[in-house]
Amino acid sequence: MTAEHTELEAEWARAIKALGGATEICLACHVRPDGDALGSMLAVAHALRTAGAAGRTPPASPSPFTAAVRVVASFGDRPFEIPRILRFLPGAELLSPPDRFPERPQVMVTFDAASADRLGVLEPSAAAAEELIVLDHHPSNTRFGTVNLIDEAAAATAVLAFELIGRLGVGITRDMALGLYAGLVTDTGSFKYSSTSPRVHEMAALLLRTGIEPGAVARELWDRSPFGFLGLLGAALGRARLEPAAAAGRGLVWTTVTRADRAAHGLAFEAAESVIDVLRRIDEADVAVVLKEDDDGCWQVSARSKGQADVGRACVALGGGGHRLAAGFTASGPASDVIAAFCRQLAIVSAPAGGR
Ligand code: 5GP
Ligand code: MN
Repeated sequence: MTAEHTELEAEWARAIKALGGATEICLACHVRPDGDALGSMLAVAHALRTAGAAGRTPPASPSPFTAAVRVVASFGDRPFEIPRILRFLPGAELLSPPDRFPERPQVMVTFDAASADRLGVLEPSAAAAEELIVLDHHPSNTRFGTVNLIDEAAAATAVLAFELIGRLGVGITRDMALGLYAGLVTDTGSFKYSSTSPRVHEMAALLLRTGIEPGAVARELWDRSPFGFLGLLGAALGRARLEPAAAAGRGLVWTTVTRADRAAHGLAFEAAESVIDVLRRIDEADVAVVLKEDDDGCWQVSARSKGQADVGRACVALGGGGHRLAAGFTASGPASDVIAAFCRQLAIVSAPAGGR
């Protein structure tokens, strides 16, 4: 058993103890949640509802709960809107807007947030929580919890949420499975990325046994768009640029999706999210970047690497976070300046071995 493994085991024990002694558990995932953030949180919300319902727990049950538990689940976006592609997930009724989130939670659990600022308007609640359990898999995680359940080897936060539900002694229902499966397929790119391990497929098999339909989940997540999306995609692809010298000569392709693009077709911010999946195909570039202008006029930047460049480190250097091959940051100013700053960071982290 490695030292990290022992340490993580101790954190799990502390997490279960804190949850078991709580009368109120407050859940939060990162802003503008993706399938992993919201799916993991909703799955745990369903499980806590089951495990924490005092009186319904048979005496022989392994549930750690000693009292009835109130569960609050939210994310720190104002306005508070569930992304359209995630509305099929069961459990919307378990969510409340951030204004109704306790200012000083007894026990708070965060999902898929690499740093406290990713909680948006719920960041102060996290800072004031008596016990803060951080469930995450980002290497860039700042370990901002009192209990840090952070496993970089996990393909998704959903893997950790699945583990948590098991340790709470709760059996996986179809509703929980849908959230966890959405997390797993989101973060592995439908089992395409290198994070896809035997363990990922084993977990997927267990989830599918609850009767959920993988085809229906994929269709909701990726195979639906209003007609106006074609106009937005056309505009974004039409101004894509290739920078062959970037990323130590391995190439970078980038484009923007502006507020004007979205306004022309009546589309919300999330319509811009899938553009990166087209850009990242391009053979001449190891790195793909999309600058998505949000409703406040800031750039929400998505970066992807095919394997050589560490876009996670470049994004961390610019105040963001993420993984080695998929990361992001927030910026403002002219798009060309943002790309220039990103290329400078990429040049630093892509310097040949021994050159630093
Ligand atoms: P995406 O490009 O899909 O929004 O995000 C890719 C990865 O980078 C995800 O793991 C996401 O959590 C992370 N990420 C994206 N934007 C930001 C950001 O502004 N700050 C931080 N810390 N991480 C980000
Ligand atoms: Mn994730």
